[in-house]
This record gives sequence, C-alpha cells and structure tokens, in this order.
Amino acid sequence: MPLYEYRCQACGESSTLLVLKNSTQELICTQCGSGELRRLMSGFAVHKTEATRLKELDTKRRPDGSFYHDDRNIGLWAKKRTRELGVDLGDSLDEKIEKARTSKLDDIISN
Ligand SMILES: [Zn+2]
Repeated sequence: MPLYEYRCQACGESSTLLVLKNSTQELICTQCGSGELRRLMSGFAVHKTEATRLKELDTKRRPDGSFYHDDRNIGLWAKKRTRELGVDLGDSLDEKIEKARTSKLDDIISN
C-alpha cells in the first residue's frame, strides 16, 4: 500500500496518508485540515516497529540530520548504542526519549 508520511507545515503534526497513483486527491492534514503538507524523508516505512528500526540502525555511523526528520528516530540511536554497550539506563532513558520526541528538534540539538 502506498502509504506516505507527511508533515504539516501549518501545525507541525505528521499524517500518514494513502496516496493512490493517478489520483487527483488533495493531501490534507488529518489534524488541522491544512493542505501545506511536505512528505517526510523516504526510507522509513510506516509499518516498521521500533524493534525493526533498532535492528536496522547502524550505530557505527552517526546518523545525519535527515535521520531526525523522522520523529520516531529521535532517541533511537542512543537507545541502541546504550544497549550495545550494556548500559541499562532503564526508564529514565525512555522518559528522556519520549520527552525529546515531543519537543522541538532545536531543543534536542542544543542539549
Ligand atoms: Zn496540520
């Protein structure tokens, strides 16, 4: 199924939309109805679970900026890296990641 993820330029929410070929459908934000949608970086299938994304993530390579265009990847690198190192940060890491995912990217980078 041609599912794509879009980020709304108006409200910042992401929407997963089914995009049919040769369709003249208008892409509209599911949160606010705005038509100002931008497709998120490809390569991250919507149906992938976090476990799959963790598995596929190469921690030998520091992810570049585009990696974090997908909100769900925020914190993923740190999570995997700490696991590989055998560090158990427990719930506090999950909490931090959850927080990071819901806050602005700029805040994360400056931290
Ligand atoms: Zn919107």
